[in-house]
Amino acid sequence: MGWTVHKFGGTSLADAECFRRVVDILLSQPLGNKAVVVSAIGGVTDSLFGLLESTSGKKSIKGSLAGLRKRYKGIAADLLSPKERANFLKQFESDLEDITNVLKTISSAKTASRHSRDKISGFGELWSARLLSSLLRNCEDLEQVICLDTRDVLVVEAGEMGPIVLWDRTRIHLNKAIPDDFAGVVVITGYIARNLEGLQTTLGRNGSDYSASIFGALLSADAVHIWTDVDGVMSADPRQVPEATVIDEISCNEAMELAYFGARVIHPQTMAPAIAHGIPIRIRGTFNPEHPGTWITESPARSETLIKGVSGVGNVALVNLEGAGMIGVPGTADRLFGALRDAGVSVMLISQGSSEHSICFVVPEGSADLVKTIVEQAFRVELSEAQIQNVEVTKGCGVLAIVGDGMAGLPGVAGQFFRTLGSAAINVRAIAQGASERNISAVIAAKDMTRALRAVHAS
Ligand code: ASP
Ligand code: MG
Repeated sequence: MGWTVHKFGGTSLADAECFRRVVDILLSQPLGNKAVVVSAIGGVTDSLFGLLESTSGKKSIKGSLAGLRKRYKGIAADLLSPKERANFLKQFESDLEDITNVLKTISSAKTASRHSRDKISGFGELWSARLLSSLLRNCEDLEQVICLDTRDVLVVEAGEMGPIVLWDRTRIHLNKAIPDDFAGVVVITGYIARNLEGLQTTLGRNGSDYSASIFGALLSADAVHIWTDVDGVMSADPRQVPEATVIDEISCNEAMELAYFGARVIHPQTMAPAIAHGIPIRIRGTFNPEHPGTWITESPARSETLIKGVSGVGNVALVNLEGAGMIGVPGTADRLFGALRDAGVSVMLISQGSSEHSICFVVPEGSADLVKTIVEQAFRVELSEAQIQNVEVTKGCGVLAIVGDGMAGLPGVAGQFFRTLGSAAINVRAIAQGASERNISAVIAAKDMTRALRAVHAS
């Protein structure tokens, strides 16, 4: 039988009622095997990280553990039969004991190893999976329910850009865990995995989407449904643009561009395994399951909307490096961005005109002062010789971007974009458009952002 993956995030699993809603949603889905990837209950991962921060003051640890116990006891009491509840709570108490022991070791060693951080922060997913699978076992319509602890299955290795899945090993483990003739639901812990040494590790914050996409690929699922607290990917942030609507279908690249600029419904990299296997991802609202949501596919059907979304990020600074000394000299950009790389600063937008007289880029406002120092340091000789006139940093900026695959090769889109900004009397400080023509970005004053977003969305 074919598979479908469903992933439920923390806000979809906030309390007992939410768990029941998830069961209802699952039972109302078309027939076929389901892999249900769960996150920790909303806020729990943060509390677990909080425990790691507070290893110096014992009191707050006790308080936080008591808080967790109260929350889970309440949910278990509401959802489970006395026997199931006793089982769940027994395991839960033993986990809290494990946590306490790890915290003791951390506090005497005065530092938390990567492994102990990973171990503690991953309990939330285990608890969610155990609760949901208990609940599903009571459903008569379901043939089999397996609770899959991904620490037994998913093998990853740390890479520069995040964890890398070791597919072959993982497949071997998965084939052992799920029999060939399986029919029913497998509840899967999101976020956690194991490394080559067999130690527990995680996929990083918000890693459950990634888990869902990985299991979609492993099971050759026909779709990965990401159930969340919004109805889909929106054409703009509805807090800033009230007319924003849910986009029906969007390409993976468009979703990535929009995600980057604040519409963080799904973490961009996490889509890769599913999309690479041609598996569509559907973003849907747990609290509005009738809504069709947004399909993310490799190549969506051509739509009439050239532009899928408008998004804005505030709190950035524009840095401008200007000087006649740079004209026609190879290697200036290399030195500039090399210095930023060495300092670990990520650059959000870059623009250089063909005169090569100046080069400008955008960084998060928080790193603006550091960036100024780094760049002045990197070009101190040129600055003292006046080959470079100055390094100018303007805080209080924002980047506004329009995103859409349909813009490629079509004249007039940029024209309309800038005419709209011009009519709204919004000054454009810098512009960037990549050769993919999928995104046109403009740097404007942060104070103009909401007005600009509305004008451009309407246009
Ligand atoms: N619970 C984890 C976190 O909050 C993973 C997830 O929610 O995707 O980061
Ligand atoms: Mg989460």
